[in-house]
Amino acid sequence: MATQIMHIGTRSWWNGSVKTLCGLKIREPGRVWFPSLSGNRVCPACKAIQQGGR
Ligand SMILES: [Zn+2]
Repeated sequence: MATQIMHIGTRSWWNGSVKTLCGLKIREPGRVWFPSLSGNRVCPACKAIQQGGR
């Protein structure tokens, strides 16, 4: 099975694009951005920022 890396980000309501904590901007509405709900691997950059910016 493919390992999917989950980014943590916020979706812009006005245009549907997602800006991740690690700086990516993705325009794929419908993805799940909350890895705590699953066993997927979390993007290390996103995780570090979420946990305090290290
Ligand atoms: Zn990321």
